[in-house]
This record gives sequence, structure tokens and C-alpha cells, in this order.
Amino acid sequence: MPMKIRTPSLRKQTGASIPTIRLNSSTKDSLEALLREVRACKICSASLPMDPRPVLQCHGSARILIVGQAPGRKVHESGIPFQDASGERLRSWLGVTSEIFYDERRVAILPMGFCFPGTGVSGDLPPRPECAPAWRNKLLKHLKSVQLTLVIGQFAHDYHLPNAGSTVTEVVQSWRMHLPSVIPLPHPSPRNNRWLARNPWFEAELLPVLRKRVALSLSDA
Ligand code: SF4
Repeated sequence: MPMKIRTPSLRKQTGASIPTIRLNSSTKDSLEALLREVRACKICSASLPMDPRPVLQCHGSARILIVGQAPGRKVHESGIPFQDASGERLRSWLGVTSEIFYDERRVAILPMGFCFPGTGVSGDLPPRPECAPAWRNKLLKHLKSVQLTLVIGQFAHDYHLPNAGSTVTEVVQSWRMHLPSVIPLPHPSPRNNRWLARNPWFEAELLPVLRKRVALSLSDA
């Protein structure tokens, strides 16, 4: 998703009413049971361009949490998060192989919306606003081993770093304030090549620290 002036945050969007999700008492503490419920979710199916296909990676042992936006069409088709050009760039930013990236015991991937939201006139639509209120806190409660959270793009910034700045550039520029446990990033999409060219400090200053924090977080995983 290209970085421009922010649109109203995900939390300010008014979407359809959000049904209560009920977990019975025998399963409410189980991540496995919760993930089964997420994968069967149809809360906003009427607003999606295709049948829901939540794409996420989550295990209670994960040391790194990656918070993205929402799957694009290619990821929706594969069912594998960041299996696209954005993912290739993200893995090179982190300095990790695909094997490490897709090891759920080391890396959790929870986008702000789990299903492909469709395409608008200037790219993919924002994550569905129903998704984070329905699932996010319930899943995050199970990620007790996370040492580093990578917050990627406008909608993730709005949710996880609400006071860090009013544009993606401002939020990413504030990266030193959030160390050592959180690092904000721009979206690694090829659509952001111009942003990367205009902000050379990102590759020169932030990426070396990011790679060190990733390696440290994974060192005994
Ligand atoms: S985007 Fe989220 S809330 Fe909507 S159907 Fe998919 S998992 Fe459910």
C-alpha cells in the first residue's frame, strides 16, 4: 500500500456492527481452538470480494510478531502470508530466510485484517474494520514470548502506535523511541520504491538495527 497522508484510522472507521464471538468455557484459553474459530470466521464476508480466507501465522512460542495490513490477492490465493514481492523485500530487510520467516514457533504474522479486502482505484482496500476488534486482543494474549513487534504500514501504525505521528514517514522516523521491543516500518511493497528512494536514512540507519534486533530475538529460539 503506498504511503500518503493518512486516512482516518481503522478504529475511527465505521463499519458494520461487530457480532460478539462466544467461546465456550472449555476452549476459551486454547490458542488452537481460537485459531479454528478465526479460520472459520465469516463476520464481514458480505463485504469481501471473495469467500473469507483468513491468512495468519500464530504460535504461542513466537519471538517476533509481524503486524501487516491485509493479504493481497496473490496471498489470498496461496493462503501463505507475505508470499509475494512485499514478502521478499521484508525478509531481506529482516535478514532472515523463508525457512525462519515461516517457522510459526519463531515468527507470528497477524495482519490488521486477515482476509483479502478487495481492490479500489488506487490499490488494495484497507483491512476490514471488523477484524481487529473481533480477534486481535484474543490472539495477542497468547503471544507471551514475543520480544520484538514489527509494525508495518499505516493501519498497523494507527492501531499499535497511535500517538507516534500523523503520517507513515513521521511514525517510521520515530523508530528509536520504540526500541527495543517495537520497530515501525513502511510497507515493503514495490509501490513504495519512491518512498524508499526519498528516505535513504531508512536503509542506512534503521535496517542495520532492525537486523540486529531480529537476530537477537531469535538467538535462543
Ligand atoms: S477479515 Fe477478519 S472479520 Fe472479516 S471474515 Fe476475515 S477473519 Fe473474519
